[in-house]
Amino acid sequence: MLTVQKAGYHGIRLPDLDIGLDLKSPKAQYIFTSHAHGDHMPYNGNMEVYASPATVDLMRARGYKGRATKLPFGEPLDLPNAQVTLYPAGHILGSAMIFVESDDGNVLYTGDYRTPPSPVSEGFELPNVQVDQLITEATFALPIYKWKSLEDLTDQVQSFAQKWLSRDETPVFLAYNLGKAQEVMHMLAPLGNRLQIHGAGHKLCPVYEQYGFDLGNYEAYDRETVDGSILVTPSSAIGQGIASNVHDKRYAYCSGWATHESRRSQLTVDALIPLSDHLDFFALLELCEQLEPKQTYITHTPNPDVVQHYLEQKGLRTRFLDMEVEEHD
Ligand SMILES: [Zn+2]
Ligand SMILES: [Zn+2]
Repeated sequence: MLTVQKAGYHGIRLPDLDIGLDLKSPKAQYIFTSHAHGDHMPYNGNMEVYASPATVDLMRARGYKGRATKLPFGEPLDLPNAQVTLYPAGHILGSAMIFVESDDGNVLYTGDYRTPPSPVSEGFELPNVQVDQLITEATFALPIYKWKSLEDLTDQVQSFAQKWLSRDETPVFLAYNLGKAQEVMHMLAPLGNRLQIHGAGHKLCPVYEQYGFDLGNYEAYDRETVDGSILVTPSSAIGQGIASNVHDKRYAYCSGWATHESRRSQLTVDALIPLSDHLDFFALLELCEQLEPKQTYITHTPNPDVVQHYLEQKGLRTRFLDMEVEEHD
């Protein structure tokens, strides 16, 4: 079986093949980037990465100046000792699982993923062969994380907006500016109301539209005209005074972490909407059971013991690769 190594606090190396997965600096000859979130993207600099077409476009829109080659989903790339194929991961637009096949076996690296997939992503698809080694993120790997259906969550998002607009208060959705913001916008689009988007998220929206996703009637956040529209912004912008001139407004925090009622007082929000771009605990167990890999590596989780316990009960061999848990969720 291929050797799997941690590389720094973010990436993975397959040293037998000189392949790097989500490496931020050039510590391997062939580097693959799963998606355009900051903790997975390479630093600018003299390295070349392979990524899905939408990931490269989003990286560019976020200011990435390094070299990047587009590798479409499902089209294998032949390297001297391996073949690498990207599969849609359902996390955000462009997000990919990276499947590496070699004479010494194969490895499936999930990156960040979600099943059922985000409605503003390319969907979710698994390779059609037996997976030898699975490297899976496990951000929400406790049985308290059980997501509601997409219909349910869409209803929560739309109802919150309609309720407060009808009372002349400005609904403010706190959502990370890549992925979550566009998902919330897509849910709000059928209402037809004017949406305003924080600048960092706003510049990424045209990429979503280019790939065919409807984000509704939106414009960039404007302090003078925000009153009466629906605002979508990362929570970090609240401390920086976004919409501070709007007197009557209500906050909805959209995140997997909204599962925790304690977040309400920490953030002083009016609604907690547990909308995550990661899969929940039960979907993770189900997927591992279905794939039945010879070896499963757990990454990106504050709670490896619990998920390892459950997987080992199902007869799966697991190992924890200690990596940073990100802020976007
Ligand atoms: Zn991510
Ligand atoms: Zn991540």
